[in-house]
Amino acid sequence: MRRLVPPAIAQLIEAERSELDGRVGPLQLQFEPDPRESSSTAEESLDPLLEAYHAPLPRLIHRYRNRVLVLVTDRCAVHCRHCFRRAFTGSGSGEIDDHELDSIAEYLGQRPEIAEVVLSGGDALMLASARLLAVIDRLRRARKELVLRLATRVPIADPGRLDARLAAELACRAPVWLVCQINHHRELSSSARAALARVVDSGIPVVSQTVLLAGVNDSVEGLAALFESLVALRVKPYYLFQPDLVAGTSHLRVPLPHAIGLVSELRRRLSGLAMPTFAVDAPGGGGKVMLEPSSVISIGNDAVALRGVDGKIYHYPVEEGGGA
Ligand SMILES: *Cc1c(COP(=O)(O)O)cnc(C)c1O
Ligand code: SF4
Repeated sequence: MRRLVPPAIAQLIEAERSELDGRVGPLQLQFEPDPRESSSTAEESLDPLLEAYHAPLPRLIHRYRNRVLVLVTDRCAVHCRHCFRRAFTGSGSGEIDDHELDSIAEYLGQRPEIAEVVLSGGDALMLASARLLAVIDRLRRARKELVLRLATRVPIADPGRLDARLAAELACRAPVWLVCQINHHRELSSSARAALARVVDSGIPVVSQTVLLAGVNDSVEGLAALFESLVALRVKPYYLFQPDLVAGTSHLRVPLPHAIGLVSELRRRLSGLAMPTFAVDAPGGGGKVMLEPSSVISIGNDAVALRGVDGKIYHYPVEEGGGA
């Protein structure tokens, strides 16, 4: 099978091979094709989130009232084998053009309830810098207070792309956030760390999203190491996702009951800063759903019963008046 990985990832895979003595590891599983991809289960599909049904305009996904997602390009710096948007990535639709951008800007202009726009794809940082900045400026002209997020794997897949100049250009267009997908602490090479530091130093807040993947990061120790490393790099772990039911990826999924157990243990172990929210995009287009067991045991007339970290039950009284 053809191998399509950028040099930064190829280096990580080589390092992993020698470290694991040739055994298949987290980097290889994420980025190298696997024969198991050719078999799909009945639950799987190419567009498990039914994103096509939530697209009021080409390249615009509007699933939640106050935020939208724009597919600015179908290209990525790396081909993740677990990609949940594979119906779109590499589809040949290319980059957003001025006409599509104008329509989206107009849509945003008419809907003041939309407060955040995620620039995604594909990978937002696959646009040339001048084009990326022009896209941001066009959206800003439509709605100057918009919060923008750039969804990307470039900090780990092509760290040099995020140079100080681009970071500064993005920072002066605040509020712009960077949302980076990072799944294993070995992805945090010295150049990836340097790229993240340049972005944070320039004043851009960075959060990370992690996909829970069998054989990649499905252990309490592995995830704890990743999240603690991120916090040390000033990157807030934001979401941990149970993977979507994408065709040909069942070998990468952890059974959900086991995943919930892993995350409960992590919750006990990690600080609030290091702990992301565990969520899944509900199959069939239901949107993101939080997956952690609730510590709210019951809501009574006199008190709400809560489970403490020690497993014991505590009661927080329900008071009269106030906000009710
Ligand atoms: C995930 C997602 C968002 C952002 O959701 P948050 O919970 O705010 O991170 C927005 N639009 C779509 C279509 C998404 O899938
Ligand atoms: S970077 Fe995101 S969109 Fe691109 S292949 Fe990976 S998961 Fe898919």
